[in-house]
Amino acid sequence: MIRKIVQIGNPALRQIANPVDVKQIQSDEIQTLVDDLIETMRHANGAGLAATQIAVPLRICIIEVNKNPRYPYKPDIPLTVLINPKVTFLTEERVNVYEGCLSVPNMRGRVDRCPEIQIDGYDREGNDVSFISKGISAGTFQHELDHLDGLIYTDRMKDASSLSTIDEFSSYFEEEFKKQVISIVERYGS
Ligand code: ZN
Repeated sequence: MIRKIVQIGNPALRQIANPVDVKQIQSDEIQTLVDDLIETMRHANGAGLAATQIAVPLRICIIEVNKNPRYPYKPDIPLTVLINPKVTFLTEERVNVYEGCLSVPNMRGRVDRCPEIQIDGYDREGNDVSFISKGISAGTFQHELDHLDGLIYTDRMKDASSLSTIDEFSSYFEEEFKKQVISIVERYGS
């Protein structure tokens, strides 16, 4: 079922989500929630969606990038369901990249992200997952994990002057940013 995505200003986005009881991951309730997140994200052409964005305060988020029309420059990421995910930064380096969010309609802004991270958590079957993500994709994972701690990318912006509507971003900044993305992909591999 497609769920309503709450928008910036809604207190649900500021809640710190609760861990999921691992024994409950295979329950109908959690499985339906995961299905709803996938359907809702795909319907909205999102690159990811966290449960807090549909006002469910549980530590579940999903990520998928497949030739995304909202982010044509993003490298693909296969559908990834993360439950109780934890992130570890593997480098002191940061990349300053444009992000957008289904809960912040029609906007883009620049945020610093760690370009090499490890994610540990559970998948939708309740299996342990652990993997490394790099480059642009690493930023996408950090964005979704932030939602589980009540954070929105605009909180991470050191310079609010990069905030831009999608149209103005396309007109003035997208070409330059695509070149930056290509150099990040060359350097970090995704
Ligand atoms: Zn978001």
